[in-house]
Amino acid sequence: MEEIEKTLTKEQALIEAERCLYCYDAPCEKACPAHVPIPEFIQSIRSGDLRGGREIIEEAHPLIESCGRICPEESFCQSACTRAQIDSPIKIRELHRYITDHTDPAENLELPPANKGKIAIIGGGPAGLACARELRRMGYEPVVFEKKQLGGVPAQEISPTRFPREIEQKEVKFLHQYFITDVKDGKVKSLSDIKGDYKAIFIATGLINELDLDIPGVSLSGVHHAREILRRVKAGNNSGLGKRIGVIGGGNVAVEVASVLMLEDPKRDVEVIYRRGLKELKAFKKEIEEAIDVGVTFQFLAIPKEIKGENGKVSGIVVTRAHLGEPDESGRRHPEPIPNSNFFIPLSDVVIAIGQKASDFFPEVEKDRKGLIKVNDDMMTSVKGVFAGGDIVRGASTVVESVADGKKAAKAIVKFLEGGE
Ligand code: SF4
Repeated sequence: MEEIEKTLTKEQALIEAERCLYCYDAPCEKACPAHVPIPEFIQSIRSGDLRGGREIIEEAHPLIESCGRICPEESFCQSACTRAQIDSPIKIRELHRYITDHTDPAENLELPPANKGKIAIIGGGPAGLACARELRRMGYEPVVFEKKQLGGVPAQEISPTRFPREIEQKEVKFLHQYFITDVKDGKVKSLSDIKGDYKAIFIATGLINELDLDIPGVSLSGVHHAREILRRVKAGNNSGLGKRIGVIGGGNVAVEVASVLMLEDPKRDVEVIYRRGLKELKAFKKEIEEAIDVGVTFQFLAIPKEIKGENGKVSGIVVTRAHLGEPDESGRRHPEPIPNSNFFIPLSDVVIAIGQKASDFFPEVEKDRKGLIKVNDDMMTSVKGVFAGGDIVRGASTVVESVADGKKAAKAIVKFLEGGE
């Protein structure tokens, strides 16, 4: 699968960098959860010092290859860009990507001796890797527990059309080489599973499980979970799905899997079936536009009622037309079923993409009603010396927010172990 977005040419990057106003208060940088010094790296493009630009970004952000490609800039840096008041925001993410595409990770990195003790990091995704890098730079020995592939969701699931394998492997290889003392592929379900002399623990498992659809027919053959499909395709395998696919959901995962299935076989019909309207879709605007560009269709205000089957295999889905009522606890208008409005959509496969849920691991630490781990301002859980961050604390979020948590937790762990600020 070809990557959709092309990197900026030198001319395009220079013209874009020239548009930057170099705001002294840099609202872009404040809006970036990792506080990347954006005006500085844009300046490096103008002066032709891309290596310098890479070092500026890398200093603030360990996962710069992934964020140069998959960061939802319209929700962070570019949403605050002053230039938007004149014409349009600076293409900050694409300039970030321009730098990472034209430079390589540093070699022979100089790091302080790793002699301050081992820290256990449970989960090798963005939060865990960011925490490991910060801790290693402060002289600690991060030991990462990861039973799947280092890199987490971006490495295992994000479509190769948005984040090619060779790019993510370049990033993970660099982080593993310099900042991770050891990787253990053991399954960690409780703190008591972690034997050994770890000075502190950082839980960054992410959200492993997918929510299930509670309607008749979900056990039919031809019913799938979205992230399962994304992992299969990201690993280079064919999804194995048929010609008429219904994707249930309205978030980034739903729109991503729909695009991936359409790109895998453009002769397919792939329809996103969502119980609210276009405005209520939770997916990022750019993802929705890319899905429409590759031919994905949307069935709005349609509530799944029952998955129908023949000979144990999916034949379609019955949905009820809805209208939007008063806002519910999510703050969004609630989809109210319209009486006698059921209709049938013939399908070969149904893909469920209605969200993720926390696993019931780590019974020792306090959780909220959604099963997410509770932490204080220092990212410490209810158990002293045990910290947590990323999606297992925030719920489904973004790579850059997980990176921000990993950085913050690393500083808090050092403060906890060494006292002082
Ligand atoms: S807010 Fe926009 S114009 Fe201002 S420094 Fe950041 S990128 Fe440049």
